[in-house]
Amino acid sequence: MDSEFWKIVQNIIPATYAKQASDAIRARENTIRTFFQHKKLPEEGWEDNLIEMVLNRLSLMDSNNFHGNCSLGEREARFASALVAKRHYNFGHGVGRSGDLTEPQPKAAGSSLIYNLTNCLLQDIFKIMGMEVPIRCFLVPVATGMSLVLSMLSLRTIRPNAKYVIWSRIDQKSCFKSILTAGFIPVIIDMVVNGDQLETNIVEIEKKVKELKKDDILCVMTTTSCFAPRACDNIEQVAKICRTHEIPHLINNAYGLQSRYIMQRIQKAQSVGRVDIFVQSTDKNFMVPVGGAVVATFDSFIMENVAKLYPGRASSSPILDVFITLLSLGKEGYLKLVEQREESHAMLVEELKTFADQHEERVLINEDNPISIALSLTKIPKEHLTRLGSMLFIRNISGTRVVSLDGFKTIAQYHFKNWGSHTSNFETPYLTVAASIGIEDGDIEVFIKKLEKAMNKNAKLCDTITEELSGDKSSLEKGLSPSMQTLSNTSIIDSCDL
Ligand SMILES: *Cc1c(COP(=O)(O)O)cnc(C)c1O
Repeated sequence: MDSEFWKIVQNIIPATYAKQASDAIRARENTIRTFFQHKKLPEEGWEDNLIEMVLNRLSLMDSNNFHGNCSLGEREARFASALVAKRHYNFGHGVGRSGDLTEPQPKAAGSSLIYNLTNCLLQDIFKIMGMEVPIRCFLVPVATGMSLVLSMLSLRTIRPNAKYVIWSRIDQKSCFKSILTAGFIPVIIDMVVNGDQLETNIVEIEKKVKELKKDDILCVMTTTSCFAPRACDNIEQVAKICRTHEIPHLINNAYGLQSRYIMQRIQKAQSVGRVDIFVQSTDKNFMVPVGGAVVATFDSFIMENVAKLYPGRASSSPILDVFITLLSLGKEGYLKLVEQREESHAMLVEELKTFADQHEERVLINEDNPISIALSLTKIPKEHLTRLGSMLFIRNISGTRVVSLDGFKTIAQYHFKNWGSHTSNFETPYLTVAASIGIEDGDIEVFIKKLEKAMNKNAKLCDTITEELSGDKSSLEKGLSPSMQTLSNTSIIDSCDL
């Protein structure tokens, strides 16, 4: 609003009121201008109305919102539903052009600005998480698995004859499938057991790198954030091998961005060796709906390569979510969440240790996993283990996993022993829980209480089922439910009985 406007206002209301009003507006406009000038994450989070002011202004810059716009194309960002328009702040053009995801879109100046600014905010997040060397990054509006696919395909442009991806095993189906979807052959490197911890098999990785023809290898793929007792991969050693043998190194850093420990290790890996691309999920690190990932590199050439590979335009929805979230949190807000998470992790470990002592179990020692924790489950008979997981789920505890070490799994033509445990060779069954960003102390309290209840109830069920199976009729006479009476397989227990 220019000075002419305020002069006019003074003709309508008293000058002192007009002055106050113009100060209030100017302060906001200054904040917005400074933000556009420096493209930095604000120290403190912005109020919602300031964020909406920016969003509304930017959406007015997109052609679908131009006054008197007359549309004759096949893609004009039209909205049939006002609810949908509102949900997207009237942004409808998406981002990118057919040739490049990061290229400004002529019909959508506002969307293009938001995309550029969001990528700058993300760069700042890496900085505040401890990444001191400059990186390049951009948000890809597909989730982690698909972003890994894009990353691998972009590496193919510099290694056109490559067939293999050397993969340090992590039992998350989408990681493995990303290799198959990208059209490569996985070379699976099982983890090695060291004490309680599953660690990267560096010897085997190096052996494979030497054994295979160098040009046949697309990259080595490692993973940082994962379920305990798997450790963050030894990315420093892998980076050294990759540098020596001139092979790209792709890091799956799905929820590692929220951990300063992991981000320091990525930086270290880059400084002692080779890191080409690291990929992180937006939902896991920023608490937004699933649908985006951040592809980051230390090299702008590689980044442009990924951006150029993306065919067509992309949804701006995940971009808008991250843009709003980061402005709303600011540096302070994000760091506070990060610190709270670290404290919660320590608290969860302590609570689980106390719990473990009471149940003759133990918390596995996983120094190199800063997020996920494993509690041994050695006292529960094998056939009664998975029920504990169901019991927790029915009690509204989500995100925990019981790993009973009895599963074979086949994905495409590949067979995995003890799928879910990241290795064929771990002996101790366990329960995993994670302290990830956004966790609250109350969650931990409730979880421990319900875990206690579920453990006790499961122990009771184990006894009755065992008695029953051994033909002790007296337990039936004590009034067990009908579904229990016909029970021969614990997995078919009616959920009401849990
Ligand atoms: C979540 C996760 C994935 C898959 O992520 P999507 O966003 O669902 O594609 C892959 N790897 C790891 C380690 C993960 O935690």
